[in-house]
Amino acid sequence: MNPFIFREYDIRGIVNKDLTNDVVYKIGLACGTYMKRKGKLKINIGGDCRLSTEQFREALMKGLTTTGCDVINLGICTTPILYFSLFHLNNDGGIMITGSHNPPNFNGFKVCVGTHTIYGEEIQNLRKIIEQGDFETGNGIVSNYNIVNDYKEFIIEQFTFKKKLNVAIDAGNGTVGEVIVPVLKRLGVNVIPLNCTMDGNFPVHHPDPTVLKNLEQIISEIKNKHLDLGIAFDGDGDRIGIVNEKGKIIWGDQLMILYSRDILKKQPGATIISDVKCSKHLYDDIKRNGGHAIMWKTGHSLIKAKMKEVHAPLAGEMSGHIFFGDRYFGYDDAVYAALRLIEIIANTDKTISQLLSDIPQSYVTPEIRIHCSDEIKFRVIDNLKNELRGKYDFIDIDGVRIIFDDGWGLVRASNTQPVLVMRFEADSEKRLEEIKTFIESKVDRILERI
Ligand SMILES: [Zn+2]
Repeated sequence: MNPFIFREYDIRGIVNKDLTNDVVYKIGLACGTYMKRKGKLKINIGGDCRLSTEQFREALMKGLTTTGCDVINLGICTTPILYFSLFHLNNDGGIMITGSHNPPNFNGFKVCVGTHTIYGEEIQNLRKIIEQGDFETGNGIVSNYNIVNDYKEFIIEQFTFKKKLNVAIDAGNGTVGEVIVPVLKRLGVNVIPLNCTMDGNFPVHHPDPTVLKNLEQIISEIKNKHLDLGIAFDGDGDRIGIVNEKGKIIWGDQLMILYSRDILKKQPGATIISDVKCSKHLYDDIKRNGGHAIMWKTGHSLIKAKMKEVHAPLAGEMSGHIFFGDRYFGYDDAVYAALRLIEIIANTDKTISQLLSDIPQSYVTPEIRIHCSDEIKFRVIDNLKNELRGKYDFIDIDGVRIIFDDGWGLVRASNTQPVLVMRFEADSEKRLEEIKTFIESKVDRILERI
């Protein structure tokens, strides 16, 4: 078994190479053992529409029941619907079989104990249980439950829209399309569905809305048909991508401005969390509207944990993970986030670009990712901190975010890949280039030395 499939936030690997039916059976044994030792005996299982998901579902359920855990098989659903089941059915834990936005030959597992998604050391504990072969035994049973219907009814009850909007939906042939399209129709939205039937081959494009190429189709649809907005989803429905009425992409941090303004109207002084990659203008806007802004580490499990700690009604990441505690359960559900956005737009006479027109002009780069081995990536960050200390202002909550009067630059080590992630923002194009060159050259020199 490849030990590297046990990652920071999930278990993930290449199908039939890292993840065989036998490995997945052992993951089932390990999860069952881990849960049983915590007194958790009823486990919900959801899965995305990947081609390998059903064979893995069988193997996983066999492992779990062999340890004595009972399994509630939820069938095909989004990751947030698996989270929903943990609140709604009140069982002891859950496992989602999903490769999220990765290519079709990947798959993986997100594991929840109670309503908490495990990460870091807890995931390594599953690996250790397998390596020691130290499994519980018993005879669990499997039953089926149609959670998708419950979820749809629950969501529909939460919303009424004052206006009929024209909205394109691109589900990238992942799990979201068959959930959101009927929900929006019932709520009176005029839906233009793109790639909304499930197909684990992802024939048109990868279901990853952070990649520009994957949004080209929805952008041209909006422009051709003069729609109010476009909403794209990743394969398992926990990340959202928004395109405005002009066909312009609204990244996670701008989207958070819309949500945070809406929440701060009803909850003055609320705490709102975003990750270190987000624009300075998001943090300024939260403060300007009377909110308490917290900049936090990138990673959905880390954001969720912080949200609970400080009782934040809203959190969001640049990558499109948006978490609503306000009127919802506090996990990242892109379908729910889509409905909250439609609600905001249906409540005003303004378009998305008009709503965001008062944000100061800024120049940003997308995420820049450079290869850097797992062995040295954190040392690069430490070296950079040492070099900057005393000379420049920086925030080191996750990597280094160097603050200038007229911009900032971020260098952080990815928790999930052998990669350094950089992003830059400035008040002018020229300044953006200067900040970028300054920081990149420092990183290059450190890489040469190490
Ligand atoms: Zn996802």
